[in-house]
Amino acid sequence: MLIVDAHCDTALSVYENNSDLYENPYHLDIRRLLETGSRVQFFAAFVEPRTYMNNTLAKVLSIIDVIYNAQEKHSDKIKVCLNTSDIKNAVSENMAAAILSIEGGECLNGELSVLRQLYRLGVRSMLLAWNYRNLLADGAEELHGAGLSAFGRQVVTEMNRLGMLVDVSHLCEASFNDVLSLTTAPVIASHSNSKAVCDNERNLTDAQLMKIKDNGGVAGLNFYPFFLNNTKNADIDDVVRHIEHICSVTGEEHIGIGADYDGIECTPSGLEGTQCIPALFDRLLQLNYSGSFIEKLAGGNFMRVIEQVLQ
Ligand SMILES: [Zn+2]
Repeated sequence: MLIVDAHCDTALSVYENNSDLYENPYHLDIRRLLETGSRVQFFAAFVEPRTYMNNTLAKVLSIIDVIYNAQEKHSDKIKVCLNTSDIKNAVSENMAAAILSIEGGECLNGELSVLRQLYRLGVRSMLLAWNYRNLLADGAEELHGAGLSAFGRQVVTEMNRLGMLVDVSHLCEASFNDVLSLTTAPVIASHSNSKAVCDNERNLTDAQLMKIKDNGGVAGLNFYPFFLNNTKNADIDDVVRHIEHICSVTGEEHIGIGADYDGIECTPSGLEGTQCIPALFDRLLQLNYSGSFIEKLAGGNFMRVIEQVLQ
């Protein structure tokens, strides 16, 4: 079964610790991706915006460098994919299909040209703002979060034109709403859960989930216990509760996985690393979810959006 995981921060850990993307002690590595079936893995370049205020572009490039270094070293194991045919080729050769993404638009430095250069470098997805305000949008931790800036609107339009996935996770609701009314392509909320199930600012309200459904987009389930039940302890059934609710709002076509491995300091029991993702499907089968639904959740829904957006 094809598994798409729309968010991990593993490349940042590898960069910061000068460790190995192929095999490491973190939540995710290439070896474990390949152990558990066909994998499409988004690798985010996240740079904490307040720590690296004037240096985010260099950090983003360094994190992307981790993925290309891994591809050079393990050219039969991982491939940076630019479009659907790259993904299909990688999967057919039993390689991990890597999608490069950026978590936060600070690195653009207010320039659309930087966005285009990052696209040419292989980046195919960008989350507009992490938790705070930047030149594009306001993040989920801004108390009175505003909508998209004029530059943010230009970025969304240019991403639509280039064929990049616009990622609305981490946005405040006003910026989220602006993106959804502006975009001409399906969006992703790469790693966000349901706010009705777990009242956390990083989760999506039912109204937001409905907008993602109307847009044809997908929201990826985040495994962070605090986003599952607001505590540091969770298990697979906490994830199932989000699945049940999101499907009750949007139906089966708008949900996927964005586990957030290596971006979270604790994991649910039973989902300690990327090798555990199939345990979620086993649990759903026990609960009489259909095989066709599990395929859509595992990767089919994200692949639909990827096929529509990436050129
Ligand atoms: Zn995140």
